Amino acid sequence: MTNPSLLILPGDGIGPEVMAEVRKIIDWFGTRGLAFNVSEDLVGGAAYDAHGTPLHDDTMAKAQEVDAVLLGAVGGPNYDALDFSVKPERGLLRLRKEMDLFANLRPAQCFDALADFSSLKKEVVSGLDIMIVRELTSGVYFGEPRGIHVEGNERVGINTQRYTESEIDRVARAAFDLARKRDGRLCSMEKANVMESGILWREVVQAVGDKDYPDVELSHMYADAGAMQLTRWPKQFDVIVTDNLFGDLLSDLAAMLTGSLGMLPSASLGAPMENGRPKALYEPVHGSAPDIAGQGKANPIACILSFAMALRYSFDRGAEADRLEKAVEDVLADGLRTADLLGEEGATPVSTAEMGDAIVTKLPTSA
Ligand code: NAD
Repeated sequence: MTNPSLLILPGDGIGPEVMAEVRKIIDWFGTRGLAFNVSEDLVGGAAYDAHGTPLHDDTMAKAQEVDAVLLGAVGGPNYDALDFSVKPERGLLRLRKEMDLFANLRPAQCFDALADFSSLKKEVVSGLDIMIVRELTSGVYFGEPRGIHVEGNERVGINTQRYTESEIDRVARAAFDLARKRDGRLCSMEKANVMESGILWREVVQAVGDKDYPDVELSHMYADAGAMQLTRWPKQFDVIVTDNLFGDLLSDLAAMLTGSLGMLPSASLGAPMENGRPKALYEPVHGSAPDIAGQGKANPIACILSFAMALRYSFDRGAEADRLEKAVEDVLADGLRTADLLGEEGATPVSTAEMGDAIVTKLPTSA
């Protein structure tokens, strides 16, 4: 059996710094029976500097071939004046588009040691572990017609919410599969009370559930009520599936229940490849943080937890993902904090590398 393959794209700003800590974890697993064929390449501003494009065609081809892509972050002030077509973010968008990554997974997980960090009461978020699945490649951000035109004596802005049955079906299946791997509950959110696309969404999700996932407990909720419930009592949810627009809002809302940007991982999944693994891109939610880049201050946990998601969702290594998440939890419980997790306490922060090393130390000796 060949080792699973992983393409690492550190990117810009703090991307390479946080990715260096993930490399320590990959190396640790590599010496304990779980080795990856790792290749590394450029994306974003780093690729623009080297090739004049934010994603070289060869890198794109590699991304299509590997079992999973792990990305750091792209962007920075050096590239702000570039033409839109070669901005660092275009590299990331091209990856998402050409790999057809239609399901965006954003967990909202609250480590007990950080429960005080939330803007909500501790008991509301402590132990929280939910997953939002956002449809990523269709819906109102892509629907036609779109644009701004003149009607009579004023301008009109138009966007179109459009979903086909197959677009809803495939993201629903991704969410049902996840629910099966978790607590077995799925809540689908739309606005079927006022939108025809919402009615179709509800019907298709229900039909997929009835036919192929009778073991998963399915419920439906209007997305505005969902937003209220997420802030009132988020622990009632396990997996939430929703469209591109509502998912954009609800996943940001859910993520902030748990505190710092430096803690938030994500995964974007596409259709299964020949080997059964989904096309997959894993990346922290945060950007390249130019304000702290190169200072050893970045929190590597979001990127490390993104790798834990890769272990779970691309490589079917749930036990190893659990171990890694437990190591993060243990380090936080010991009181180690990068600067972003310190708040007003005035304690001494650890560096990016110290946090990475501490997490490796907490990994159990037998894996
Ligand atoms: P950002 O996420 O880079 O930073 C926002 C704030 O959070 C900053 O104060 C930063 O220091 C802090 N922060 C972010 N990640 C952190 C970490 N791991 N540890 C500690 N602190 C952290 O967002 P921004 O400042 O709006 O954008 C900066 C650049 O990143 C821009 O060029 C933007 O386009 C790009 N960006 C890229 C992505 C991506 O690659 N997916 C996402 C968002 C923004």
